[in-house]
Amino acid sequence: MDNVKYVNAKHFLTPTGLGTDYACNPYVGCMHGCIYCYAKFVSDYQKREEPWGTFVDIKEYPNYDILRSNGDKSVIFSSVTDAYQPIEKTERRTRKILENIYESRLQVRFLTKSDLILRDLDLLTQMQSIEIGFSIALDDETAKIMEPNAALPSKRIAALKTIHAAKISTFVFIAPIFPKITDVFAIIAMVKDHCDYIMFDSLNLKHAENKANVFKFISTSYPELLPLYQNIFEKRDNSYYRNLAVLIREYANTFNLDLRIVFPESR
Ligand code: SF4
Repeated sequence: MDNVKYVNAKHFLTPTGLGTDYACNPYVGCMHGCIYCYAKFVSDYQKREEPWGTFVDIKEYPNYDILRSNGDKSVIFSSVTDAYQPIEKTERRTRKILENIYESRLQVRFLTKSDLILRDLDLLTQMQSIEIGFSIALDDETAKIMEPNAALPSKRIAALKTIHAAKISTFVFIAPIFPKITDVFAIIAMVKDHCDYIMFDSLNLKHAENKANVFKFISTSYPELLPLYQNIFEKRDNSYYRNLAVLIREYANTFNLDLRIVFPESR
């Protein structure tokens, strides 16, 4: 890989307002290359010339110390990258961090699209407070186009089952939901016995490049859905997601599942 370099970072914990005290992003950039990636703004912010998905900076930390006052705080891996993207296989930055914190009281949450996380089960099973989630929104064939370098959703589900069987708290994030493409209820059926809760989020196409990518995909592969996507993402008609939320809640009542809708239902 050409676009890989090492960069100095102050600390592996960065304060965040994402529902945890800290975020940990061992890398800048993400080679999973999802065409709808929300973390692309990092590229804009840093004024990078390379397209998102084609570069990775590997962070070098001066140490892996945790302040006593940070000991029982919460941290999410990761907010603007995937801690288990392909380069982690050889660079082992995430593993290195885990080796330094697995005995701490940090409350750790992972969200990933990779089954590489199974490599670190030896450390993850020893943590006092750990929750592991997988983002799953597409079938394998569609994911090959939309999330070209991530593990196939079927592999993520297999990893979810292994981790849940290892008695680690797990969740599935059905996101982003692509209208009429993401089969929300098929995914629920596949994962409901292997996770503690399921979250749902809509597709966000505020980034112009993401919108162009997704509309190109829809025009090519699902032209019949183009009017629906224009309605939702250009005319801001939220009725598709509002109706979906109703159906999800009905389903949750029937099966007594912990289902959490995080997308806005009124707009
Ligand atoms: S895995 Fe996450 S951070 Fe990586 S490209 Fe996909 S959406 Fe972006």
